[in-house]
Amino acid sequence: PAPLELVAVTKRYGTTVAVDAVDLKIPAGTYCCLLGPSGCGKSSTLRMIAGHETISSGDLILGNANVTDLPPAQRGTAMMFQSYALFPHLSVLDNVAFALKMRGIEKSIRHEKAMRLLDLVAMVPYAARLPAQLSGGQQQRVALARALITEPQILLLDEPLSALDPFLRVRMRAELKRLQRELGISFIHVTHGQEEAMALADLVVVMNGGKIEQQGSPRAVFNAP
Ligand code: ADP
Ligand code: ADP
Repeated sequence: PAPLELVAVTKRYGTTVAVDAVDLKIPAGTYCCLLGPSGCGKSSTLRMIAGHETISSGDLILGNANVTDLPPAQRGTAMMFQSYALFPHLSVLDNVAFALKMRGIEKSIRHEKAMRLLDLVAMVPYAARLPAQLSGGQQQRVALARALITEPQILLLDEPLSALDPFLRVRMRAELKRLQRELGISFIHVTHGQEEAMALADLVVVMNGGKIEQQGSPRAVFNAP
């Protein structure tokens, strides 16, 4: 596990400054929740960390490496996409193994790794199914396993629970926390929910107008007893 550091990270879209010289340190193995009003720059920040969006200026340091200009697959991060991003024509197993196939990893090895991750999210019995044959919560767990297959140091999640019904949301929340603890890596989780952040986060980061307005433990940030 490695710490992540943002140094004066800035994102401009034309004349709009979406993320404004943000400095942030996330220690290794931290569950970080990123909050703030719509348009404050949360998604842009996450996408820059993932490498899906270029950084206009500033640096991104993961462990000892400056990963600012590395392509997504080489920086040690992974993004969990919503379950609707699963390939509908691929089995659960092939969906999870997909990134390894793209990297030219041999079939027996990628299947073994994929099964290990399916085990981690309790989805081994469903390995041969297609995504459409799964419930929403099960699809979400497959999406999680798929994101983790490349063994990232940092897992990025953009409102991962928003599509779930309230009951499932609470269960998946517990599952995310357990996984993060078990793997010992950092999760950076964008959410609108204060309650969600309260239940999950070691570190709460509140953004506003492209800047960090507040950060600290959930208790400190939310003034809880
Ligand atoms: P949040 O995730 O907090 O809602 P975003 O990072 O999506 O915030 O957006 C931050 C700001 O950047 C907003 O003003 C938004 O309109 C703008 N923005 C986001 N993506 C783009 C884009 N691709 N092109 C132009 N402006 C964008
Ligand atoms: P192989 O096809 O070499 O035996 P796997 O059993 O791991 O390997 O996965 C095969 C499945 O992956 C097939 O159904 C194939 O159509 C699908 N597949 C391969 N490449 C892609 C891709 N780029 N996009 C979507 N599906 C793909």
